[in-house]
Amino acid sequence: MKIKHLVVGAGFSGSVLAERIASVLKEPVVIIEKRSHIGGNCHDYKDKNGIYVHKYGPHIFHTNNKVVWDYLSRFTKWHPFFLKVEAFTGGLNIPLPFNLNSLHAVFPKSLAAIYESKLLEKIGFGRQISILELNQIKDSDLKNLSAYIYGNICLRYYQKQWEIPPEKLDLSVARRVPICVSKDNRYFHDTYQGIPTEGFSNLIETILDNPLIKVHLNTPFEKNFFKYENLYYTASIDEFFNYELGELPYRSLTFDIQEINTSQFQPVAVVSYPMNYHFTRICEHKHFSNTPSKKTVLSYEYPSAFKRGVNERYYPIPQEENQHLYARYIQKAKNFRNIHFLGRLGDYKYYNMDQTINRALTFFEDLYGKS
Ligand SMILES: Cc1cc2nc3c(=O)[nH]c(=O)nc-3n(C[C@H](O)[C@H](O)[C@H](O)COP(=O)(O)OP(=O)(O)OC[C@H]3O[C@@H](n4cnc5c(N)ncnc54)[C@H](O)[C@@H]3O)c2cc1C
Repeated sequence: MKIKHLVVGAGFSGSVLAERIASVLKEPVVIIEKRSHIGGNCHDYKDKNGIYVHKYGPHIFHTNNKVVWDYLSRFTKWHPFFLKVEAFTGGLNIPLPFNLNSLHAVFPKSLAAIYESKLLEKIGFGRQISILELNQIKDSDLKNLSAYIYGNICLRYYQKQWEIPPEKLDLSVARRVPICVSKDNRYFHDTYQGIPTEGFSNLIETILDNPLIKVHLNTPFEKNFFKYENLYYTASIDEFFNYELGELPYRSLTFDIQEINTSQFQPVAVVSYPMNYHFTRICEHKHFSNTPSKKTVLSYEYPSAFKRGVNERYYPIPQEENQHLYARYIQKAKNFRNIHFLGRLGDYKYYNMDQTINRALTFFEDLYGKS
């Protein structure tokens, strides 16, 4: 049978799309992937201690989208997991997002009580607010509190992570660090949360387990792949156009992965280091699946600028000028009817995994009118 469909990239975007083409259209599809493994940045592997190591940083699945949850649950069972994160600041480990427990960990009892009653009065129990919104409330105590959180948790973290002043970043980034008026230390509050019991790579392998899907690893996209009728490109859109209009900037990360001869290093899976260290966080991987082992595996995360040929693209940088450049590339893409861009690189957008999967599912539905 003639192969009409080529997918570039074997992350969640490319894999879900290929699965849809194979299962629903019942047509063969080829995926090319430049790395030596599937899974994109969600790739993990089981090490000799039985610990699933998240090679490209900690990944926890969380969503309120039942369609996405049900879709993935056809390919995996779930280990229930609720991420807890702490920040190491001022010599203390405090729960993140900053909540009423963090307040009592940081401040003397009487001051914490004042802040707590103001938060309850002005915001309300169970509600969330961003640091920017907190600072806009006309109350001197809450302004002091927001100054503390900003100075001791946000500022240096943003500087390390983005290397640009936080006010120059799109507001959505600041909103991703909420303050919670509750005593719930879970990092995410979505209805569905978990880790695939056999890991993310196994989940994606199962999605791709269809005789109509062929995956070619170590195969970067080249122009001779234009022979396919339909091209679905989940790699970076500026690279596709040979950077004709300029380069879309990204932040990159380096992970220093270390095996340590102790059974547990830190109380939670992720500890952020907003102050005093070059790394931004330490992840202890065994927490994800609660793996019993005498040793543990840590990864120290160091942010840096993305440089072609040197490191990988991780985070699109949410600034207006980058969105304009991306929009110009999309305009150009309209000249190619059968070439489609999607995923966090094709859309130049930070997506959580559930958003990535939802984007691939709805993209397929819109294009082919079937699901
Ligand atoms: C550090 C970090 C932590 C995260 N944690 C979470 C989390 O806890 N929960 C959550 O929901 N989401 C998380 N995410 C987001 C998640 O990683 C993304 O939603 C997901 O990886 C996007 O999938 P994708 O297929 O669009 O992109 P990718 O995973 O990047 O896949 C794109 C694929 O294309 C390949 N490729 C690129 N260029 C070429 C080329 N020229 N030729 C061939 N192949 C190419 C790449 O090698 C890659 O495999 C995190 C992201 C990061 C960076």
